[in-house]
Amino acid sequence: MLPSHASVVVAGGGPAGFMAAIAAAEAGLRPGSEGPAVLVLEATAETLHKVAISGGGRCNVTHACWDPRALVGHYPRGGQALRGPFSRFASGDAVAWFDAHGLELVEEPDGRLFPRANRSSAVVGTLRRAAAAAGVVVAPGCALKGAERLEDGGFRLTIRNGEQIACERLVLATGSHPTGHRLAASLGHGLVPPVPSLFTLSLAHHPLASLAGVVMDPVELEWLPPSEPGAPASQRRHRHRQRGPVLITHWGLSGPATLRLTAFAARALRERGYRGDLRVDWSGGRTTEELENLLESCRREQPRRQLAAVRPWPGLSRRLWQHLIERCGIDPALRWADLGRRDRQALVMAQRDSRYAIAGRGPFGEEFVTAGGIPLGEVDLATMESRRCPGLHLVGELLDVDGVTGGFNFQHCWSSGWLAGTAIAEALAHRAVTPESA
Ligand SMILES: Cc1cc2nc3c(=O)[nH]c(=O)nc-3n(C[C@H](O)[C@H](O)[C@H](O)COP(=O)(O)OP(=O)(O)OC[C@H]3O[C@@H](n4cnc5c(N)ncnc54)[C@H](O)[C@@H]3O)c2cc1C
Repeated sequence: MLPSHASVVVAGGGPAGFMAAIAAAEAGLRPGSEGPAVLVLEATAETLHKVAISGGGRCNVTHACWDPRALVGHYPRGGQALRGPFSRFASGDAVAWFDAHGLELVEEPDGRLFPRANRSSAVVGTLRRAAAAAGVVVAPGCALKGAERLEDGGFRLTIRNGEQIACERLVLATGSHPTGHRLAASLGHGLVPPVPSLFTLSLAHHPLASLAGVVMDPVELEWLPPSEPGAPASQRRHRHRQRGPVLITHWGLSGPATLRLTAFAARALRERGYRGDLRVDWSGGRTTEELENLLESCRREQPRRQLAAVRPWPGLSRRLWQHLIERCGIDPALRWADLGRRDRQALVMAQRDSRYAIAGRGPFGEEFVTAGGIPLGEVDLATMESRRCPGLHLVGELLDVDGVTGGFNFQHCWSSGWLAGTAIAEALAHRAVTPESA
């Protein structure tokens, strides 16, 4: 049985909803006679489900990127608009917030921050304990079905089982679930159509399949979209390029550079049916001349050894080197002394510019997130309050914001949730002491 009234109702018991609820309750909202100060409605039986399964069960809470100006560069959707919110609550604030709530975060060499316990359950536990300690009431199995804004302010909410709740402020924190989009639309909001972001790529006929498990770093990837029918190849638009570690998988390519590429190109890739070519530069940033010199050194210094037995530079995986030799149609058993000029050029080219046809999205992503959602222009980013519907706040993945892999998606949840929660507490406290209400 739900209370008939709560000062604040948060729809969605994910990370953004929990942060909003805790921040509002901790900022001093007091329960009223008819119900709790803050009530979280969660449609499923389990709150914080995505946190529990995140980061391979370890939960990549945020990223050691302390400057808001640098932080915004990790959001393909959101970008510069997030400078304001991040200047109020960014990664350093999230680390301090979790520390103050008993959870120490540990930085990995690549900047990702995980709980010291290395288990996502530690993050789930911290959020649930903080919510309980602040007096937040959590109602699992309660899906918000309808929301109506009342003329004199506040909302009348309808739960899926027919129960109704009145509240003064409503926070929508429903993630990418379509019900959240519908609820926001019913309160006057538009929608940037959702498309998947942060996915791996499948390669046609997968020429690298035998190399599954190989990691190369750094690799430069460039997506070359299929040309418009009848248009010359030079007119290919939407070039997207990323550099970083790449993992060769059983179906194609994964790893941070691939995920970053698909995040930044999410919408363009969708428009082109997840097709086109992938230009892969395996050379680790070496110039053509440097690669030519490296091959020449091998020829001069190890003339009697076979090509496949000697890698031109140490970071080049043996299996990948063999693949590149075969890709050039060269016999891997050829001796370095017998490597002609044309084959040398082909090997340089294969390291700098190998093309692979994309067959589609890969079956698994590290972090599945959705690009698209409620347009940021419809929200006051200082308070996350709707510009269309006063008293409504929108946070987390519901908004047209998504980050690349590395803890950036949760960071946006912490930032937007905290801003909404503190703004709500401030607004309600202020209203409580206005002369009319005194
Ligand atoms: C496998 C996986 C791993 C990931 N790992 C990471 C990671 O390590 N680091 C990182 O930064 N990001 C990670 N992400 C992304 C991250 O999980 C999301 O960006 C984040 O969970 C979004 O939070 P949210 O609170 O906005 O939405 P959600 O986490 O989706 O929570 C929304 C909640 O609202 C509920 N809900 C929906 N509709 C209603 C309704 N009508 N009424 C009531 N409740 C409703 C849903 O059931 C859900 O519990 C991962 C994602 C996945 C799928």
